[in-house]
Amino acid sequence: MASNNTRMIRIFDTTLRDGEQSPGASMNVEEKLMIAKQLARLGVDVIEAGFAYSSPGDFEAVRQVAQTVEGPTVCSLARAKPEDITRAWEALKGAPKVRIHTFLSTSDIHLKHQFRMTRDEALKRAVEMVRFARGYVDDVEFSPMDASRSDPAYLYEVLEAVIEAGAGTVNIPDTVGYAAPQEFGLLIRGIREKVRNSTQAVISVHCHNDLGLAVANSLAAVLEGAGQVECTINGIGERAGNAALEEIAMGLRTRKDFYGADTAIRTEEISKTSRLVSKITGMVIQPNKAIVGANAFAHTSGIHQDGLLKEKSTYEIMRPESIGLVQSTLIMGKLSGRHAFRKRIEELGYKPSEEEMNRAFERVKKLADQKKEIYEEDLEVIISEEVARIPERVVLKALQIESGTNRVPTATVELEIDGRLVTQTGTGDGPVDAAYRTIAAMTQAKSHLLSYAVKAITGGTDAQGEVSVRLEEGGKTAIGHGADTDIIVASAKAYLNAINKLAFWTSKEADPAKKVGLI
Ligand code: MN
Repeated sequence: MASNNTRMIRIFDTTLRDGEQSPGASMNVEEKLMIAKQLARLGVDVIEAGFAYSSPGDFEAVRQVAQTVEGPTVCSLARAKPEDITRAWEALKGAPKVRIHTFLSTSDIHLKHQFRMTRDEALKRAVEMVRFARGYVDDVEFSPMDASRSDPAYLYEVLEAVIEAGAGTVNIPDTVGYAAPQEFGLLIRGIREKVRNSTQAVISVHCHNDLGLAVANSLAAVLEGAGQVECTINGIGERAGNAALEEIAMGLRTRKDFYGADTAIRTEEISKTSRLVSKITGMVIQPNKAIVGANAFAHTSGIHQDGLLKEKSTYEIMRPESIGLVQSTLIMGKLSGRHAFRKRIEELGYKPSEEEMNRAFERVKKLADQKKEIYEEDLEVIISEEVARIPERVVLKALQIESGTNRVPTATVELEIDGRLVTQTGTGDGPVDAAYRTIAAMTQAKSHLLSYAVKAITGGTDAQGEVSVRLEEGGKTAIGHGADTDIIVASAKAYLNAINKLAFWTSKEADPAKKVGLI
């Protein structure tokens, strides 16, 4: 159904900036780098890696993503202030493809109550800051914050002026998720008709999901000529989140006949990217989520199943393979060698160092002893833990649990803390509680457990359990992961992983908690 005049829509991924503003989803530099590399494999056009001015951690993340990731343009957000824009440039300079994204509100509500500026002052500032950013880079994007609640006539005036000043992309945010699809489409049409130099810039959209319309609004804008969509993996982001990248990409791909538009996204990477972002941010995907939910391709109605068996297209508008969802495949057995292992890891898209390879291979061999068959998902979990490893103050050496009916759950834990071996026994309400209480006492951790979740990585009772925990201490949160065929051991590993992250971040004084008012 592809026609010759299919328009290519640019995908601007803001998982690492707006997505990170999801409550509790703060990521460290190593985690951001892992996601950025996967976004490059997914084929996004632009990665917004952070907001360089906001914290040393964000600055470092932008810098490292820009220096390391090949393919996409790397962007930093900056308020319309010289110090913000200069800081963005310092993080980006030297990298091959970079963009500065600056923003200022255009709605009277924001200008009057938040910025205390007149319309004339805001227009003048926007123009000056676009010019200032152009002094550093050729690729500048400007966003009039709260555009959907701005006076359209004033919005057009600002857009014309910033395009004249050198903005190559003008991004129209529905900052508070207020717009309706037809209305938002008409706003984009208005820009194309009323802004005299609109063809000299790419019109972008950035929609929030407060009323569940982020994707619908974005697609309505594409129909009216928008050439870039800003979105996040799994739709994470401030409040109810952003437009979901996977829904935009599959919506356009599946209905190319209707939209006359497509993206350069390699959709076969969607499922993997979604799992990685969910794992790193600790944000679980609802089972009925479009495209990437666990049930998105599960047909249970008898009538539907009957149709599918006769002919797939009766009820299937997308193939699960198209998002990279394949039946769990057995990839390694007990006797597979190191060479086969490295090959599989590289096929999964990772490039581990020699040391990371060694650690991961040791774990895989141990796992093969425990469960005999190793699936792609098992490998992914192990390699992602070993590649994104942070220095560990506390290491689990041994864990014994006694529990069952009519017993007080008791844990005996052996830890290596700063190189010293310590053993202690304690009790709790259940085996996990006993282990956590004992570890907390041994490490003197003052953190609170905000959430705890366990899931099986593959099917079968011998599957690895993956545990995710979120801890909070002094306003900082950390997400820990642990995988093991024993879920109590996995729980202890996850808890220690989070404790180690909190200690690491505190020692680096890289505060991932930040936030000022953003688009
Ligand atoms: Mn936003």
